[in-house]
Amino acid sequence: MHKGFVHSMESFGSVDGPGIRFLIFLQGCPMRCQFCHNPDSWKTGVGEEWSADDLLDKAERFKSYWGDKGGITVSGGEALMQIDFLIELFEKAHQRGINTCLDTSAQPFRKEGEMFEKFERLMAVTDTVLLDIKHINDEEHRKLTLHSNKNILDCARYLSDIHKPVWIRHVLIPGITDKDEYLQQLRSFLDTLTNVERIDILPYHTLGVYKYEKLGIPYPLQGIESPSKDRIDHANAILQK
Ligand code: SF4
Repeated sequence: MHKGFVHSMESFGSVDGPGIRFLIFLQGCPMRCQFCHNPDSWKTGVGEEWSADDLLDKAERFKSYWGDKGGITVSGGEALMQIDFLIELFEKAHQRGINTCLDTSAQPFRKEGEMFEKFERLMAVTDTVLLDIKHINDEEHRKLTLHSNKNILDCARYLSDIHKPVWIRHVLIPGITDKDEYLQQLRSFLDTLTNVERIDILPYHTLGVYKYEKLGIPYPLQGIESPSKDRIDHANAILQK
């Protein structure tokens, strides 16, 4: 039996996967996205410790709201950092007939070795993946998150190969991800996939800045505002083709 380190939970999520869902945010993330509004979720090995059974018991208190499509969504931090716990949680969720959704940046994904074996086991009990693509250009991705996007795009291709339903999420940041060139490159990449059910453009916001002040970390995107409605519409026109 594994224990999961949980950052927080929300009883009623309506945008993080199909239907109404119980949201579980796991602690720990290897990425350092400059726009991250949860820097308090980065550290590993901290947070509340939960067993899979106790978490599912808690989630099931809200089952009557889930309808046909709802269930649980596990997000982060980066949920794949606790993949052993996640496999146990989703296997047990499926035994209880609970729909499962994984929200991931896929940074820990590798299409080889032990990680891949575990990921395959996880996908056998995952109904939908919300895949965050932070930047389509590898160099820009490295600047934005301190990591390459190569294995993340590998993960997207693998999910397409196994026909796993995927929702793509993309944060629109003025001057960084909202350039036409990048939006078109992302669209072209998505055109190569067979399994994308939905694309969500998430407008950059500054609601998490106070957490940086609290943690004593300088905020990297100081001065960048949220995108205008026009820019959001423009990005949607390119990406929702
Ligand atoms: S992957 Fe998510 S939690 Fe991790 S740094 Fe990026 S935005 Fe924050």
